[in-house]
Amino acid sequence: MSIGIGLIGTGWIGEQHVHRLANVVSGARVVAVSDIDAESAGKVAASVGARVVDSAEALIEDPEVEAVVVTSWGPAHAEQVLACISAGKPVFCEKPLITEIADGQRILKAEQAAGRRLVQVGFMRRYDAGYRQMKRVLDSGEIGAPLMAHCVHRNPNVREAYTTEMAAKDTAVHEVDSLRWLLGEEFTSVQTILPRKTSKRFPHLQDPQIFLFETASGARVDVEAFVNCQYGYDIQCEIVGEDGAVRLPDPAGPVVRKAGRASAEVLQEFGDRFADAFDVELQEWVDRLIAGQEPTGPTSWDGFAATVVVDAAVRSLHSGGIVPIDLPPRPDFYA
Ligand code: NAP
Repeated sequence: MSIGIGLIGTGWIGEQHVHRLANVVSGARVVAVSDIDAESAGKVAASVGARVVDSAEALIEDPEVEAVVVTSWGPAHAEQVLACISAGKPVFCEKPLITEIADGQRILKAEQAAGRRLVQVGFMRRYDAGYRQMKRVLDSGEIGAPLMAHCVHRNPNVREAYTTEMAAKDTAVHEVDSLRWLLGEEFTSVQTILPRKTSKRFPHLQDPQIFLFETASGARVDVEAFVNCQYGYDIQCEIVGEDGAVRLPDPAGPVVRKAGRASAEVLQEFGDRFADAFDVELQEWVDRLIAGQEPTGPTSWDGFAATVVVDAAVRSLHSGGIVPIDLPPRPDFYA
């Protein structure tokens, strides 16, 4: 048995997901794609023998499309996800689920009215082997109650269109979701701290930035986002508990000993670092669909909460102060 998938947005990640669904994930068929750029849609469709559909709306209504993947640009996600819910079709939406808080409330309401979980949000780190090992250690209680988390998110460089606000909205948002999931609690406040700027990139950009979060239990999470670090794509995470600490493993690779030094490669591309996680993420989503079960991945609530948190981080970027994070109570539907 296989599921007919329609994908909206054949840009960078959309094209990757099409090939992943067609060639790596078992049980999926890409039957249709759509993009506002018809040429891009045509090229990607031809590479996997799918049809091009004129609009996102037509793709969602297409009878051959049993489930939808949304990889268009962020501001289009909310309406496309709402259309999937109203058509009763499961939807995997790349982050961000929403760019406006009010749209999040609409999605939460519509999904609860539908009476079953239809939405999964693309926070792929939850499918990375190292993060999953950390989660097992934390859930076992082995290191006791978590007190602190130290996170590092470094990219070698970014393009000129990257803005200062994107450090929270596009970069640290991954740490926000990962740490909410690892710690199993919500963030309650944030302060954005601005170190001296690197001179190695664009003058318009405040880089690096540090986000200091507090959680409901009083734990502290610091996240360094440094997107022009020059040397590679480097993700670090350590959680310190009352009885011990757990650290995210580096990706496995050989250590070369030569001329009095031992050295290991640092990956350059985030796509290489999380390629396996993307594969597992889509495979597990498809497996649940085939079994006729609701998805178990990040929910609409997780997508909503992540945007509320990073919005507060952006407000702190501009004010310099500690900004409370005002999340409404989580509906039982998302427990
Ligand atoms: P991208 O290359 O710009 O691709 C977006 C595509 O969607 C473009 O082809 C764009 O067309 C098209 N599009 C825009 N509005 C549309 C609409 N209303 N209907 C249909 N198609 C539309 O961007 P990307 O890097 O692939 O990112 C896409 C999404 O994935 C973003 O939300 C991004 O945050 C997310 N993402 C997530 C991860 C992750 O780590 N999970 C990694 C990368 C990206 P035009 O180019 O003509 O506007």
